[in-house]
Amino acid sequence: MPKYKRILLKLSGEALMGSKNFGMDSDVIAQYAREIKSVTDMGVEVALVIGGGNIYRGMNEAETGIERAHGDYMGMLATVINGMALQAGLEKTGLFTRLQSAIKMEQIAEPYIRRRAIRHLEKGRVVIFGAGTGNPYFTTDTAGSLRAIEINADVILKGTRVDGVYTADPEKDPTATKYEEVSYQECLTKNLRIMDMTAFTLCMENNLPIIVFDMNKEGNLKKLVEGEQIGTLIR
Ligand code: UDP
Repeated sequence: MPKYKRILLKLSGEALMGSKNFGMDSDVIAQYAREIKSVTDMGVEVALVIGGGNIYRGMNEAETGIERAHGDYMGMLATVINGMALQAGLEKTGLFTRLQSAIKMEQIAEPYIRRRAIRHLEKGRVVIFGAGTGNPYFTTDTAGSLRAIEINADVILKGTRVDGVYTADPEKDPTATKYEEVSYQECLTKNLRIMDMTAFTLCMENNLPIIVFDMNKEGNLKKLVEGEQIGTLIR
């Protein structure tokens, strides 16, 4: 029996680049699709939120000369492109999927409708939430937390390229050690950056557990869903 019945998996846009320096790597998409298939095969309901950082981020107003809010909408569109790529990859494995967008684009995605998303999940379809929250000044981490709470997911899984939460940045401090579990409060007190504050407090206030784990390590997602100690649990 899987430990979790319904999960929200948050993937970063940047991770899709794999070994490339722009856009997306078909090998990464294929790998993610396999990982996701391995857990839906266990009967786990999977919802996905994907970032857009490999294509566009709205924050760099100084660099781009594009007003923040305007750039944020561009960033949200980027997440839809990634969502479509992921959708194609997932369907190649035989999965059924639906892309729901927080910004209406009828020809390519359903509009986000909470009850409909839940119904898709119940039928075993993978639901991809595109266009973030639909609002500028938010991130896809916040979209992930929000949707996870809305659909009553058991947990939000944040797939990253590090294998968990460390006492300090492991890429800078060699003495840093990994937490197996850490409380929301300790993350705040020690200023451990798991997600941006908006995303993090949404999880904390609604008691949604977060697991940070390495999505690039083959088999990790399945092990995690089976209840193995992978990554760091925040609750
Ligand atoms: N974005 C936004 N509102 C949202 C989600 C995303 O405005 O609810 C924009 C924002 O500009 C962000 C970009 O979309 O920089 C891409 O998302 P994010 O940076 O979260 O992607 P990731 O870092 O996960 O690749």
